[in-house]
Amino acid sequence: MADSHYDLCIVGGGINGAGIARDAAGRGFKVLLVDQGDFAGCTSSASSKMIHGGLRYLEFFDFGLVRKSLAEREIMMAIAPEIVHPLEFCIPHQNSVRPAWMVRLGLFIYDHLWPRKKLPSSRKINLKKHPYGLPLREDLDVGFTYADCWVDDARLVILNIRDAANHGADVRNYTKAIAVKRGDSKWNITVEEVDTGSKQKVTAKVVINATGPYAYEFLEKTGHVLNDTPKLRLVQGTHIVVPKLYEGQQAYLLQQPDKRVVFVFPYGKYSLCGTTETEFNGDPVEVMATRAEKKYLCESLNAHFKKQTSLDEIVWDYSGVRPLFEDSETDARKVSRDYRIYEDRAGGLTLLSIFGGKITTYRTLSEEVMDVLSLDFPDMKHAWTKNVPLPTCPVNLEQEPNDKDLRFFIEREWAKTAEDILWRRTKWGVHLPKDKVKAIEKRIPELIKKETTGNAPT
Ligand SMILES: Cc1cc2nc3c(=O)[nH]c(=O)nc-3n(C[C@H](O)[C@H](O)[C@H](O)COP(=O)(O)OP(=O)(O)OC[C@H]3O[C@@H](n4cnc5c(N)ncnc54)[C@H](O)[C@@H]3O)c2cc1C
Repeated sequence: MADSHYDLCIVGGGINGAGIARDAAGRGFKVLLVDQGDFAGCTSSASSKMIHGGLRYLEFFDFGLVRKSLAEREIMMAIAPEIVHPLEFCIPHQNSVRPAWMVRLGLFIYDHLWPRKKLPSSRKINLKKHPYGLPLREDLDVGFTYADCWVDDARLVILNIRDAANHGADVRNYTKAIAVKRGDSKWNITVEEVDTGSKQKVTAKVVINATGPYAYEFLEKTGHVLNDTPKLRLVQGTHIVVPKLYEGQQAYLLQQPDKRVVFVFPYGKYSLCGTTETEFNGDPVEVMATRAEKKYLCESLNAHFKKQTSLDEIVWDYSGVRPLFEDSETDARKVSRDYRIYEDRAGGLTLLSIFGGKITTYRTLSEEVMDVLSLDFPDMKHAWTKNVPLPTCPVNLEQEPNDKDLRFFIEREWAKTAEDILWRRTKWGVHLPKDKVKAIEKRIPELIKKETTGNAPT
């Protein structure tokens, strides 16, 4: 990367940094996007993968967030049909957790907060007669259905970044922003290539801190914490993958005795189940599922499904840290999932930080960031991402890959390691047989070597 000047330097290539980079580059700005690890390597590949209004936020009267998210759900279905799919959920009724009238009222509001074009309305079902009741325990006889969407979260990030690059953005993974200093009329930023330690200095008119769970720490390390800088609440969430619990493409929302909810999704030959909510204090990139979390999830499955699941049947688990905007709420369940854009304009130079947010609302967040930046760029072009589809993927992700497929991710999607391809660009790591995964793990470094040196792999 030659020394360069950018309009925007975006630090963090999760969904929020990716969305902002796409929006800004499409409006003609010169954008640099850096991530210290792989794109989507942190929270944005560890979500429950729902594009959803957030049914349970109604319980905390967060109508604004639910409405905004439901509106985004419609937009995301239209602009990313390859990776955003409608999904029907079944809620087995547990009267001891919430009375039926409350669930029905919640679903009625959910159905009507924003107009739906494709998704069906919610309804009450008899689990003794409806196919959704087949895998469930005999004592569950009433259920409700409603619809939301499922997304491949890591691919959503990469498609946004590809589009940002298509619009001229300079995008770099494994590149860390290590210093961010105000100069006379521009920011002086030092970025470091993580593998080589090589440092470059760049300048930018505006810096955007989209470092997710690192947002406060980033400001602290770069010396930009002010009296009114918000704090983050880090809440760990774990998912487990277990042998398929049921046939069919429906998902389940299981009501827990502690009033949380656990989701179960169809996941190829498996079922994906999550999530937990545990306060977290460590380094977000090192977050790991605890035995207690896995036990909690297995117990939830066993309380609802006929097929019983034990800890040793878990084939894969993953954890992420929700970067929640800290408020005075003590119960992690109740902390709002909405975002805040924090502006620091000291010395006439703008540093914006993103606190909180959801995958679902990344696009509208990106638009709001651009609105805030109209102070810095008064002649900014108008918003455009609402109606323009994201790029698609030419590789069939359901099939075992050949060299050409693997090369696509290296050449066009910045994959630098086998893990980048097997666990983020795709989920071949979990869905292909172990021996095939091993063979691909061996092959990818050879192809990467060929790409970087021009030498044919042996
Ligand atoms: C368990 C769980 C379930 C969830 N489920 C859902 C869901 O179903 N639907 C939904 O809408 N939302 C969901 N969310 C929320 C959503 O996943 C997050 O809000 C979102 O992914 C945050 O994205 P981000 O870009 O802010 O952060 P991240 O994805 O964490 O990205 C931040 C990036 O910044 C990088 N970075 C940090 N410091 C530096 C530096 N100095 N230099 C360069 N790069 C740096 C990191 O490497 C990281 O990649 C869930 C979250 C969790 C944890």
